[in-house]
Amino acid sequence: TDFKGLGLSEWLCGVCKSLGMHTPTEVQRGCIPAILQGRDVIGLAQTGSGKTAAFALPILQTLAKDPYGVFALALTPTRELAVQISEQFHALGAGMRLKELVVIGGVDMQQQARDLARRPHVVVATPGRLRGLLDADSGLAACLARTRFLVLDEADRVLDTTFEDDLRRILSCLPEDRQTLLFSATMTRSLIALQKASLQDAHVFQA
Ligand code: AMP
Repeated sequence: TDFKGLGLSEWLCGVCKSLGMHTPTEVQRGCIPAILQGRDVIGLAQTGSGKTAAFALPILQTLAKDPYGVFALALTPTRELAVQISEQFHALGAGMRLKELVVIGGVDMQQQARDLARRPHVVVATPGRLRGLLDADSGLAACLARTRFLVLDEADRVLDTTFEDDLRRILSCLPEDRQTLLFSATMTRSLIALQKASLQDAHVFQA
């Protein structure tokens, strides 16, 4: 199967090719069709498996169809991972003037609040700083209320490193009819608990 066979549109297949992605990886084959169908997905895959593009490509395709209705939030455990995810969104979304915003510690919060006001399509964040920004009454809660996709990248580590309280506070700002995408190296107890609490009839992919 090529990217087109997974349901991605011609222009995104072109972007993939231009970035040297000629054949979908296993996690991409296993997750992209279900995400495009609107399902919640749990992808059990390691870093390096192509998992970032597995969620970024279908999010970008949905965004291109409905540029005002889609807002994606991706949570990840570290600043470095947040920057990497944002860079992949930037590269894959190059043709569509995608606005992405990284919300991590060590960056001026008032600047982040100003950047939020410019209505980014994709926000990539570490949970602690996002919670701080929520508590600072930065207009973030209103943005999050429109979230179409929630991605938890390295979800097992997000659940480990974040105070459960931060995640609960963030989840409480998101609409219930969002699509939730969890990516993790392994299925852990806390992931199963999150699946039960926040996902509906999830498609589970395991390599
Ligand atoms: P990740 O697992 O998301 O950290 O991705 C690891 C690396 O694989 C990234 O640098 C991607 O650009 C690259 N990549 C993702 N999908 C493909 C693909 N289908 N073919 C070749 N490289 C890919």
